Amino acid sequence: MAKLYYLPEPYPDELIGSILVRAGRHLGHPIKRMHQLLGGTPKSHWALLFQNQLHPIAAALAMPAEELLFRHTPFPYVTAFLSPEQTLRLATYYCHFPQLKASALSQSATTGGAIARYCEECIEDDHRKFGEDYWHRRHNLPFVTRCWKHGSLLKMTDRRRVGVAVTGLPHEQQGTTVVPVFEEYIHSLLEPISIELLDSTFRQPPEAWQSGYRNISMQRDFPQQGNLLSAIALCAGFVAFYGKAQLKRAGLDVPDRPNPWPVSLLRLNETSNVSAKHILMQAYLKFAPVPDAVATTPPGPQPLNCQQKDAVFARAIRKRVSMLATGTRITVTQLLSQLEILQPVRHHRNALPLTAAAIAEFRQTEFSERQAGRRPRKKYLSSKKS
Ligand SMILES: [Zn+2]
Repeated sequence: MAKLYYLPEPYPDELIGSILVRAGRHLGHPIKRMHQLLGGTPKSHWALLFQNQLHPIAAALAMPAEELLFRHTPFPYVTAFLSPEQTLRLATYYCHFPQLKASALSQSATTGGAIARYCEECIEDDHRKFGEDYWHRRHNLPFVTRCWKHGSLLKMTDRRRVGVAVTGLPHEQQGTTVVPVFEEYIHSLLEPISIELLDSTFRQPPEAWQSGYRNISMQRDFPQQGNLLSAIALCAGFVAFYGKAQLKRAGLDVPDRPNPWPVSLLRLNETSNVSAKHILMQAYLKFAPVPDAVATTPPGPQPLNCQQKDAVFARAIRKRVSMLATGTRITVTQLLSQLEILQPVRHHRNALPLTAAAIAEFRQTEFSERQAGRRPRKKYLSSKKS
């Protein structure tokens, strides 16, 4: 069988699938032929994040397989919440046993968001610097919607493609702007945590993460039941902070039954090493308001007949948007403030599905102002209830 002897030198933070796309271009080989040269099943696309055949690729790059794994795949992100021993064992297996398939790693690397993404400004920068563009690791992590370097919303490839697979380079895509799952300020809290994991060599056993989370909750005076943290209050606060529907869309649904996954992250004998779950928990414990002790009533100053008000609010939003003059640009906050419904919508957002739909429609219009690089407002950072 023919062997592959040439692969282009990887660019900083370049994903493994991207190196292979460029190699095919440089060699003039179709993707199927490249798969054959690597000893794999011929396919007409490349998985962007991980490859099953790590050894022949590392050999052609004259690079240790471990370096390829840690620098050019989301492996450090995926293993960030495993113990040091588990991380090393997985790396060794994956580098040296080709029968170990990458699908489990890919799944863990895409929980929370699974579409190939790129930044248009990075394409220009890369062309200036390298003469070609490539797929970046930092654009393709869960919860990342903006370029870490340029602050602009990323573009994403066609949703119909299964998993994070590509056939070409970013500049060849007819991408659409990424639609954030959570509110923008929430993404601005999550993104840096996701990205930092790529460079983090810190590992500790799962129990240490659990006790760390419990300590933060205690320090912040989260409600207790007896001597223990109140799991109900914590979970209700967690769901209120992120939004039930949003968590579901991210593939991280929190079902209404005892001990859902946010609780298991804090309990001994139960755990999860899915990085996306830890990221959500860390941002929640750090930035969310302290939850109410008894979570039987929704937070907020006044009770609201949500079922009745939902349709009224949705109608008011649509009417207002239909009356906006051409060229007007306003934010959702401004729109809701003008209608004097900002507070009720904020406080009851999970109980107002029609209103949420009307807001989503507005976001798609030319009137919707996207706020570049918006930082979280102070309000969301306060650690104590006023
Ligand atoms: Zn960029």
